[in-house]
Amino acid sequence: MKNLLISFVIPSYNEEGNIQPMIEALSRTMTFSRNLYEIIFVDDGSTDGTMDEVREAVLLYPEVEYISFTRNFGKEAALLAGLEYAKGDAVILMDGDLQHPPDLIPQLIRGYEEGYDQVIAKRNRKGDAKLRSALSRLYYWGVNKAVDVELRDGEGDFRLLSRRAVDSLLQLSEGNRFSKGLYSWIGLEQKTICYDNVTRQHGETKWSFKQLLNYAVDGVVSFNTKPLRLCFYAGLVSLILAVAYIAVTLVDIIRHGVDVPGYFTIISAVLFLGGVQLLSLGIIGEYVGRIYNETKKRPHYLIRRTSAEVKGKPLSHAKIRSS
Ligand code: UDP
Ligand code: MG
Repeated sequence: MKNLLISFVIPSYNEEGNIQPMIEALSRTMTFSRNLYEIIFVDDGSTDGTMDEVREAVLLYPEVEYISFTRNFGKEAALLAGLEYAKGDAVILMDGDLQHPPDLIPQLIRGYEEGYDQVIAKRNRKGDAKLRSALSRLYYWGVNKAVDVELRDGEGDFRLLSRRAVDSLLQLSEGNRFSKGLYSWIGLEQKTICYDNVTRQHGETKWSFKQLLNYAVDGVVSFNTKPLRLCFYAGLVSLILAVAYIAVTLVDIIRHGVDVPGYFTIISAVLFLGGVQLLSLGIIGEYVGRIYNETKKRPHYLIRRTSAEVKGKPLSHAKIRSS
């Protein structure tokens, strides 16, 4: 089998202290491999010493490259930039905090050599807070009922993608990217490798509860319009109930005359219908907001500098390569 070029894409936002250990860990695992590799750090507008460490690394290691954003555009944008600039026959996406164990890399590459287009490293939830794991489990149960693609708990961005998978992902140009769903949407042959969850060594997680909640909503509304259908049904059911209630009450009034007490029923009906309407409006709003964002057609990220400034040769971009 021919020697492969493996591209590691590492989104990094304030990962000071993790850059050097990350490069060392990757070099260690790749030493015994006959394959070539490149490590692309995508600096997502870090405000600490991450970029200094990355720039220093570029001078020391010829296989290290970087792309640095003008500000924080989010992990999804960083992953996309990495995929666009990766030249490899296969691309491995990894977090920059060593939570994705480099020991699994040989297994990921083996999966690729066996012919799989996506080799997914799946983590369990060992060491995670109980409440967070329970909420996640509940979420995945619910979301899989709601969306058309299959999302699996523990299967995140840590995975190997073949060139074919990368090119397929790059064809999906939507502004609101929800990678977990996109990986599933492109299909292709997949293999899963399980590993024990690792807790973070340096720095802290960038996900607040609010961000996780937003991510959860993205997961549902990015992939279909079923929630809109749900609003329709909820509206229909309340309408039928309301009509039935009016009919029954009307018959009652005709037979027994007007009855004054009715405060409770009126208030409940108003509150219930108000709730259904607000919820429906909110869901519609989510979709309208997305349409608004898509129509602006803004780029997913802006680049301030790349390792070309240190190396003197430009990084190659997928669109430019293929034209
Ligand atoms: N990250 C990023 N941009 C962001 C937030 C996170 O590039 O706005 C990177 C971060 O540097 C790390 C990866 O995404 O490499 C995962 O982030 P984190 O460890 O905070 O998430 P968690 O592991 O807690 O889910
Ligand atoms: Mg992490």
